Amino acid sequence: MIPRNHPRYHSLIAREKIACAAREGIVTLEGLTAHGRGEAFDYLLGECTIPSAREAGQVAAALMRTAKNPVISVNGNTAALAAPLIAQLQKSTGASVEVNLFHRSDERIMRITELLKQYGTEVLSGPVSRLLPLSHDRGICHEEGIFSADLVFVPLEDGDRAEVLKNMGKIVITIDVNPLSRTVQYATLPVIDELTRALPCICSYADSLSEKEAEQIAATRKNGEWYIQEARNEILRRFHVLD
Ligand code: ATP
Repeated sequence: MIPRNHPRYHSLIAREKIACAAREGIVTLEGLTAHGRGEAFDYLLGECTIPSAREAGQVAAALMRTAKNPVISVNGNTAALAAPLIAQLQKSTGASVEVNLFHRSDERIMRITELLKQYGTEVLSGPVSRLLPLSHDRGICHEEGIFSADLVFVPLEDGDRAEVLKNMGKIVITIDVNPLSRTVQYATLPVIDELTRALPCICSYADSLSEKEAEQIAATRKNGEWYIQEARNEILRRFHVLD
């Protein structure tokens, strides 16, 4: 039992969720280490949503609302930490949801799909094939999903696929708390924030923006590099303050 007033309550709850999901075969052991990297960078960012990440959340909502065929790509860690929020994001944006895994097996796909469905998410099913030019299994996807999407929303992505998707002419939005990752460099829009803080922020903008506001924000968005620089500056600023 984790006491609510524990100073690291949210972090401990997240660890419990991710460990539990690992026991259930939803998260891999490798996924646990990826979570640890995320925690470390979140610590450096002060475990809060910095203003530029909030702004990125608004732009993400606007881009998803104005896309023709947006797809949310979900992996094990995302499902473990944020299955209810993925359902909410699908409702707020009308995006399709596809499970896409680096460590892919039919068993894991089934378990993650079941978890997402429990919270009301409609998950793409049916035949998949290796449609993305990648030598690992993240290249396997649905033709009517990630392959034909004009926008792919990829929380906790790896850099390789972000690059490939961008080269295919898609808008790539990622959530990754690490401003040094290859993923954030390749994404059209990096939301540099912790997953479970970023998703409610994006959902609330997706619900509240008018169509006109969404179009205007999408059309006047900043370059991804600006968000990276802001996050790096925040980390440096925190080191100086702590000195
Ligand atoms: P790169 O993007 O440099 O190719 P990688 O492919 O090695 O990195 P992964 O091992 O897939 O990246 O790690 C996933 C990324 O997700 C890490 O950069 C980590 O900081 C980030 N991450 C992990 N957990 C969270 C979380 N809860 N919220 C936001 N970001 C997270």
